[in-house]
Amino acid sequence: MSYTLAPKAQNLKPYDPIKGAYRIRLDANESFLLPTPEDRQAMLNEVAGVALNRYPDPLAFELCSDFASLYGISSDYVTAGNGSDELISIIMSTFLQKGEKVLTLSPDFSMYRFYTSITENPCVIFDKSQDMTADIDLIINTAAEQNIRLIIFSNPCNPTSLGIKTGEMRRLIRSTDALVILDEAYMDFWDQSLIMEAHEYDNLILLRTCSKAIGVAGLRIGFAVANSQLTSVLRSAKSPYNVNSVSQAMARIVLKNKLYHTEFINTILDSRNYIMDGLRRLEKNGLITRIYDSCTNFAFIKLNDAGEVFKNLAKNGIIVRNFGNDFLRITAGTQGENSELLRVLENHLKKKGGKTK
Ligand SMILES: *Cc1c(COP(=O)(O)O)cnc(C)c1O
Repeated sequence: MSYTLAPKAQNLKPYDPIKGAYRIRLDANESFLLPTPEDRQAMLNEVAGVALNRYPDPLAFELCSDFASLYGISSDYVTAGNGSDELISIIMSTFLQKGEKVLTLSPDFSMYRFYTSITENPCVIFDKSQDMTADIDLIINTAAEQNIRLIIFSNPCNPTSLGIKTGEMRRLIRSTDALVILDEAYMDFWDQSLIMEAHEYDNLILLRTCSKAIGVAGLRIGFAVANSQLTSVLRSAKSPYNVNSVSQAMARIVLKNKLYHTEFINTILDSRNYIMDGLRRLEKNGLITRIYDSCTNFAFIKLNDAGEVFKNLAKNGIIVRNFGNDFLRITAGTQGENSELLRVLENHLKKKGGKTK
């Protein structure tokens, strides 16, 4: 007898974030700010009181309530996940029947395609135009023509950093029979969220995360916001104790403190703007080809030989994300990190002569 792996499991590779001891990490869109010392102490105090021999609250009721109050919504519409990544996986394996098609955009977050491949649902890729925007009417038509059952994308977009405004988004959701999964992982950095009205649609699940603006990627906390029917499906489909009690207790501290949503976000946006200003100087000097308008905590740029630029930055201890030979994605860092990034980037590009396409 011999066992053969299912074809869909044969070529899987573990998610492989960039490792290595880089001095400056601007690759994963995390916050560069830790919670305040007071809050970190409060977290430790809370954790000391957690009953580790008991299972956590399966619905993370208090955590969901704190999230809901922060955004001014009802916790009836909120489901907590072990990161929004887990929620994407639950959604793919729960809301789709065998053979039903998923539509996602390109470029966008790679995990959408990955989870679709695990459930073996066909995935239709909608390519964005040259300027990296996505025409809403074309998406609506494609979804109708191809009988798409689920549409998933990020807004603002990772990696392009561009955003779609609420009016367009509402039009898309209302013009399709598909379930729309709107990943607002970066919406804390912009003001075009549908979170207040998510429960009014029967075909919308909105995703948020504590991994970016809120600054606790290590705790693995994400949320889905949807109407009661969809919420009830999500709560039933998830594994019972998906969010551990230590993370629940710790995340509540940051969700209860408005500071992370006001001053911290402003500090991160200042950092992003500083990088953008620096990049604009390089663009003006013809050293890079294009900077996309950012609605996020990172910059997305087009330039010649992105792969080589990436390697040169890495050689100097600075790690960013490289997409093909044309694009780099750079997360906002501390003042020192940002200025060093710009200095190394400028030196390298000047040496190369700075001829752009
Ligand atoms: C970072 C990111 C997430 C967050 O995932 P978590 O599992 O909550 O850490 C989700 N979607 C997009 C588009 C992201 O960039």
